[in-house]
This record gives sequence, structure tokens and C-alpha cells, in this order.
Amino acid sequence: MYKVVTKQALFKRLFLYFLPLVLIGVLIGAPFVLLFFGALTLLIWHYHQLYRLSDWLLNQRSFNPPEGEGAWEQIFEGIYHLQHRNRKKRNELADLIRRFREGAEAVPDAVVVLQFDLSIVWCNQLALKVLGLQWPTDHGQRLDNLVRDPKFVKYMQNKRFDEPLELDMALSGEQILEFRVMPYAETQLMVVVRDITRLKQLEQMRKDFVANVSHELRTPLTVVTGYLEMMEADNMPPPAMWSKAHHTMIEQCKRMDSLVNQLLSLSRIEGARKQDKDKPINAPAMLKLIETEALSLNQDKYHEIIFNIDSELDVKGSPDELRSAFSNLVFNAIHYTKPNGRIEVNWVEKDEVPYFSVVDNGDGIAPEHIHRLTERFYRVDKARSRKTGGSGLGLAITKHVLSRHDSMLRISSEVGKGSCFSFTLPKSKRVSK
Ligand code: ADP
Repeated sequence: MYKVVTKQALFKRLFLYFLPLVLIGVLIGAPFVLLFFGALTLLIWHYHQLYRLSDWLLNQRSFNPPEGEGAWEQIFEGIYHLQHRNRKKRNELADLIRRFREGAEAVPDAVVVLQFDLSIVWCNQLALKVLGLQWPTDHGQRLDNLVRDPKFVKYMQNKRFDEPLELDMALSGEQILEFRVMPYAETQLMVVVRDITRLKQLEQMRKDFVANVSHELRTPLTVVTGYLEMMEADNMPPPAMWSKAHHTMIEQCKRMDSLVNQLLSLSRIEGARKQDKDKPINAPAMLKLIETEALSLNQDKYHEIIFNIDSELDVKGSPDELRSAFSNLVFNAIHYTKPNGRIEVNWVEKDEVPYFSVVDNGDGIAPEHIHRLTERFYRVDKARSRKTGGSGLGLAITKHVLSRHDSMLRISSEVGKGSCFSFTLPKSKRVSK
């Protein structure tokens, strides 16, 4: 702690300075002359100290003031402490601002701080990208002059921010942004902008999914209800018609059952834990069973079906999931190839990794459909798929299964020539016998 200059100390100093001068002056008979020179020397010394102070304040870059002498020692020391305190406060403030900015940069949303008149005070890097702002050029510009969408301009000018605003932006492709504005400090507003494109897509997918499931269930339900209404107790149809109705109802119930089973299987695969998918699988034996099923499905199609299986090629994975991937691809080939076609199923080691493919010489698929085949409920020809009992979920299930096995489905097809559905499994999934 530095010493405080008190009035008493100052007077005591003055007194001790002038007393010897007065005494000597009295002794030599010229007290006023000595007093005059004493006062002059004191004045010059004080001016010198003042000069040193002003020189340090204005010209020198050193943080520490010059060494003070006499009463000036405390003053210089006081200034030094004041400087020190200010510098500490300034550093703390700068640190606070830096931390705030780092925090605002770390959030996954675009953040813009505005004055109440909507002029920009600060924004994070993401805001530059998402809103197309330029920094520092746009500092002080009104945000509603830079984001010119009329809905946004109205929203900002109405200053009613209890509900967020959703905007379709064409700036970086198709993008849906959500703007939330909240009061910040006393005279400022903080605008938080979030990209909700993915969220909206998921919401749309969920809506489509519910609509698709309802649609798929409605048709068989309508058929069954229609027949049941016809068969009210006192109005039974003739036996020949009853047999047809019975057959159709069974068929429609089977269709609903298959749809529900596929939906359950899809949700099971999506929700399954990772560790369930590394069990040893005797894939050749599994494919042998699928071959038997394929032959019975082939009874009225008369395809030539060739199974080319490497009997040594076992793998690790989830048995139920891989069975459904294998069989979906094989059964699809049988369904979507005209009678008397040729289907070749391969399970071999290719380039040192397990490789599965189903090649058919069916009608093939036009290029515009290929990338959509693994979407839920997507079918090239709805009527035909329904006839085969298809629900449009088989390839969606296959895609999920493969992605859980670090693989992906490859589809190559040519209209009029046929299709090839294939995938490889990573080398790490190979089990040596
Ligand atoms: P589905 O239950 O309708 O068979 P999938 O998801 O298994 O559903 O298949 C989606 C669509 O892909 C089918 O409706 C069909 O149009 C087409 N498709 C699948 N496999 C083949 C194939 N081997 N040849 C031609 N088209 C196919």
C-alpha cells in the first residue's frame, strides 16, 4: 500500500524546509532574502516535477511513472496504482467480452446483437454465412435493410417477438431458418437464427410416413369391411360368391399382416443396439434356406434361378437382419422379372471382401427411380408391387440393415435389360473357418 499525503504532513514538510532558512536568515540579518530564494527554489523544483509528470503522461510509453521525490513520490505512486487498477479492470472487461464472443461463436446458431433501432452491433461467424452479412462492412447497418424478406422486415418492425419467425431462404440453396429475438442488455436485442431445414424435413417425413401407412392399410380394410357388410346375418351371399369373398378377405388380411410385420422389422432395425450385430453367421446355410423359399415362390414364374454360393464364406453380423437383406433382394428379383427370366445369386469373395449380388434380366428400372428405391413406400409401379404383395418397405429395410453392417446397397439397372442389386461387407466381418 502506498502512503496517503495528508495536510499535516505537507505543512510539516514546509515548516521543516523554511525553518532552517528563517533561522540562518535571522543569524545573518537577511531572513527575507533567504525566504525568497528558498521559495523560488521550491517553486522551480515543483515545476520540474510537474514537467516530469506531464512528459511521462504525454510523451513516454512506459507504464510506470518516473521516480517521484518528496511529496511527489506519493503522487507518482498513487498514479501508478491507479494505472494498475485500471489496466486490471480493462483486462477483466476484455476477457469478459472475449469469453462472450467465444461463447457466441461456439453455439451452433447464428447470433446477431442489435441496437433497439435494429442496427447491427456484433454478429458471430455463422451469421455471416447464414444471413450473408459482411463484417465489418455491415457494422451499424440495419438488419432489416440487409435481410430484405418482407415477412422478416414486418416481424422486426412490429417488435412482437413472443413467437419465432420461420423463413424460407434461397441464399444457400433451399434452407428454412427460424428467427428468435430477445431483449438483450437494456437497449439491445439478440437475434438467434437456427437452420431448421433438417427438422422440417424430418417432420415432413413423419407426416408422409403416417399418411403412407394409413393409405396402405385403408385399401385392404375397405375391401374386408365391404365384404363383411355384405354378409350381414340375414343377407348371406350365395356359396360361390362367399368362397371368393373369403379368399379375398384372407389375402387382404395377409397383406395387412405383412405390412405390419415389415413396419415392426424396420423399427426394430432402427432401434437395435450395435452389439447385436456381431454374431457369427453361417451365410451359405442361410442362403440355402432362401434358395428353397425362392424355388417355392418361383412355382408359377418358371425363372431359371442360379445360386452361386461360396460354402466357406461365413461372416459376422445380425443373422435376422442379414437374412432379411438377402431374401428381400432375391424375392424382389423373382417378383419383378417376367416369367421365364434368369436370376443369378452370388455370394463369393471378391477383392478379398464378402460380396453378394442378385442379377436379373427383368424389365430394369429407369434412372430417375433408382436413387429413390430405398425410400420407404417408394415403388416404381404401385399397382404391380401391390399385386406381388409388396409394401414398398423391403429396400428401405435392406438399406438400414446394410448401413448397420458398415455397408451400402449398390443398384445398377438398364431398362429392358435387367438389374443388379449388390453389396460388399467389410473384411473385418469375414469369419475364417
Ligand atoms: P416392394 O415391397 O414394393 O417390393 P421394395 O422396397 O422391395 O418394395 O422395392 C421398391 C421398388 O423397387 C419395387 O416396388 C419395384 O418397383 C422396384 N424393384 C425392386 N427390385 C427390383 C428388381 N429386381 N427389378 C425391378 N424393379 C425392382
